[in-house]
Amino acid sequence: MRTSIQVGTIIGIPIRLHFTFLFILFAIILGFANGPTWEYRMPLGLGDIEMDPFLRYSLSSIAAILFFFTLLLHEMSHSYVAMKFGTKIHSITLFFFGGLAMMDDIPRNPEKEWRIAIAGPAMSFALGCVFLLTYFGIKTLNLVIYDPIAILVFILGFFNLVLAFFNLLPAFPMDGGRVLRAFLAKRMPFLKATKRAVLIGKLFAVTMVISGFVADPFWFILTGTWRQNIFLPLLAIFLYIAATEEESATITFTTLDGIKVKNVMRTERTSVLEDMPIEELASKMLAEKTAEYAVVNESGELRGIVTFDEIKNLSAEQRHFLRVSDVISPFDSVSDIILEEEAAATEALKWMIRTKRNVLAVKEAVSENFVGIITKRDLATYIEMLKGSV
Ligand SMILES: [Zn+2]
Repeated sequence: MRTSIQVGTIIGIPIRLHFTFLFILFAIILGFANGPTWEYRMPLGLGDIEMDPFLRYSLSSIAAILFFFTLLLHEMSHSYVAMKFGTKIHSITLFFFGGLAMMDDIPRNPEKEWRIAIAGPAMSFALGCVFLLTYFGIKTLNLVIYDPIAILVFILGFFNLVLAFFNLLPAFPMDGGRVLRAFLAKRMPFLKATKRAVLIGKLFAVTMVISGFVADPFWFILTGTWRQNIFLPLLAIFLYIAATEEESATITFTTLDGIKVKNVMRTERTSVLEDMPIEELASKMLAEKTAEYAVVNESGELRGIVTFDEIKNLSAEQRHFLRVSDVISPFDSVSDIILEEEAAATEALKWMIRTKRNVLAVKEAVSENFVGIITKRDLATYIEMLKGSV
């Protein structure tokens, strides 16, 4: 299922909107339009101002959209610094909890990581200052600016400052947690630093769940009053899962360090001819207990990949009439599904994760001849055995 759509491209990076983004956009518009204006230490919305409803919601919508542009700028600055260090950025997605930049490679270099991590909060901080200075400029110069606009400028500034400081909490995988990992990684192995940062991140997540149900400290700082905040436990669960995932990804990638594709690939039971009937393929899979093959033509050239998934739902009749070439998934070019045997095994894994494929073909480095296939399952088994041997 497609859960996000691409809405544009900035400096070569596709910008995507996740469907959960719509909920939060709607919630923020409502918050801006109806939030209390004078009840607390600072205005949190236009709720107490007498104004035309259409104008109220129009201005709130513009402010909400501006707010998401500032979120985008936060992610763009992470991406910009990462790109300067040579990392490819696949996309930036805006979703329920903010933004997420999909990067090709998490830099293992602490010097690079902390700079990439700090760039986002630095941008939010700068934006917050610009908005707040604008607001106070309007106030001190007594400019005749329509009051609701000034209030929204203030809220945008304040939220950006909140965003900057909140992201700097050392709760991995938030930005502050990444900075923390980078500093730990200068003193200890990367894996150990990750585990420690993840542990601290999880402690933060637990604290957030408790304070969300008991009393929200962020709300107290904002307003001087205590209340519960259901958003904090939600965010905490998300952070906890993300921290756990990143920890296991780091363990996987560290375990595979120095392993090449040729160490993991399979060189037997690797290919079938493109004109083989599906019937025959099905019995071959059963006999060889193999669920994936590279598909080649008469001259041995790679045509694609076929897996059990492509044939499992075919009827007996279809299996009788169809051939392998009828069911292989179309691909743009062979270069999308083949990599060199000398490539790093982590490269194969990243490729599979990125393209959501479970199988890749392998070619010889010099002759470029097809020599084998590598599957996600082979990689997983290999990783388990490496872990068991240390
Ligand atoms: Zn960030």
